[in-house]
Amino acid sequence: MVERIFNDPLAWGILAGFAVLSFVISLIFKDTLKNPDDDSPPTWSTAVLRGVEAVILALLGGLIARAFISLLLGWANDSAGAGLAVGWAFFLLPGIVDTIPYLTHSHPVLTTPEILMMFATVVGAMCGAMSGLWRIYSWLGLGLIAFPLDVTWALAGNTGGCLFHLWNTVFGKHDDKVRPNAHLYPSGFTLLPGGAITLGSVMSNCAGHEDHEMVHVWQNRVLGPLYTLTYLGWMLVWLVPGIVAGLIVTKGPSGLKKGPMRWCYFNNPWETWAYAVEGGSNNPRTNPGDPDESRLTWPALYVILWSIPFFLASTALAVFIFYSFWLNPQPAHNEAHPPSHKSTEPAPKSKPTPRPHERSSFDAFPLVVDKEKAIV
Ligand SMILES: [Zn+2]
Repeated sequence: MVERIFNDPLAWGILAGFAVLSFVISLIFKDTLKNPDDDSPPTWSTAVLRGVEAVILALLGGLIARAFISLLLGWANDSAGAGLAVGWAFFLLPGIVDTIPYLTHSHPVLTTPEILMMFATVVGAMCGAMSGLWRIYSWLGLGLIAFPLDVTWALAGNTGGCLFHLWNTVFGKHDDKVRPNAHLYPSGFTLLPGGAITLGSVMSNCAGHEDHEMVHVWQNRVLGPLYTLTYLGWMLVWLVPGIVAGLIVTKGPSGLKKGPMRWCYFNNPWETWAYAVEGGSNNPRTNPGDPDESRLTWPALYVILWSIPFFLASTALAVFIFYSFWLNPQPAHNEAHPPSHKSTEPAPKSKPTPRPHERSSFDAFPLVVDKEKAIV
């Protein structure tokens, strides 16, 4: 559990790659990466300092993320269920990909401990490298909390944030603010023209929306996967009701867009919170400028009331998963079905029927009954 954090040559290769690359980039782009924290022209020494910060954070980010995922999985006996939960909670994509294999007791594709730890290595190292290059963390302030959170508890958002870095480095522009504890790309990837979007500590296309987007950065850091998954869960729950409401209110096809936009996005409690912080008379949540959209927007009190059952149910699900896989760990594959030295002998024609008091812990959670199929 601890040894495997350090004994993978591929992981060290990835860490070294991010470290070397970020140092070289800091030298090559020393003029581009200059922060306006002083008026003097960029020098080689400031570029080297920036590079050193990037190298240290790349190595630390990768190792801390790797350790976090390794310990989390090890605590849960590296069970298939824990792998799936970690895949959903901290990287999203592995969880999505492996849900069907898990339910059908097939071999996991992306939620084995090795692959999840590799995801952690890449995301943690890239977060660290980019954060060092742009010097985003205030080391005398909240940065001391923000960095370790970004490469552990808040990994789900930051996995997407890494994709924003890739896109925005080519097509966007990074702000030069001095150590704001987040990446601000005034222009960059967006889903809607003029709209900002934040994943993890990366705000994209955020010009004029910095206060709103900073709320999302800290929502993600404080609540981690609970934020990411309940944000998406709210959208999923209200999609169909939103379409129906939109069609009823607009009495036309425009409701197909306006309904979900209002119910899934603007009425989303995380957004209601961020728009409340944003404030202003041109607030698109409270003053959409369209009578239909106004009717489809819930007052904050209504959002809070709906949030109570929604978050109670979400919390209950989270507690159930935590209890099932961490407080009551499922046996690991090799412990559940230890390889028998008699395996070359013919199998018995019939298996003895277990008596009721011999129910294994698998019975408590039938989805992980057949570890032989779930992990090979
Ligand atoms: Zn928002």
